Amino acid sequence: MESTSRCFPTGLARLIDIRDRFCRTPWCDAPIRHRDHIVEHQAGGPTDANNGAGLCEACNHAKQGEGWRAQPESAENGQLHSYRFTTPTGHEYRSTAPPLPTPFDGEIYIPIGRRMEVIFVDAA
Ligand SMILES: [Zn+2]
Repeated sequence: MESTSRCFPTGLARLIDIRDRFCRTPWCDAPIRHRDHIVEHQAGGPTDANNGAGLCEACNHAKQGEGWRAQPESAENGQLHSYRFTTPTGHEYRSTAPPLPTPFDGEIYIPIGRRMEVIFVDAA
């Protein structure tokens, strides 16, 4: 699903909302307000599901700041959508979409514990 538009069309935005459910910044989990281009549109990032992520307003604005970098990871069939991003301090994180909904099995989904993964910490 890809669009030539800079804005995410309604159907694609809904797909991202359903897939991501909460802001994709690992420590946030606020409601989604923006569908963000992981690689900015002006830098050649396509308007498609792999390059889109649901973010809250605060995280989307923070990501526009100097020193933030992000790159979607290639998703193979059956894998959850994920992307890596680097903060201005050099810390690198992976944001993985929550698991697909399943019939209730008695376990309640807790987003932050399952989605936060520190990949690389550069303390220099
Ligand atoms: Zn957020």
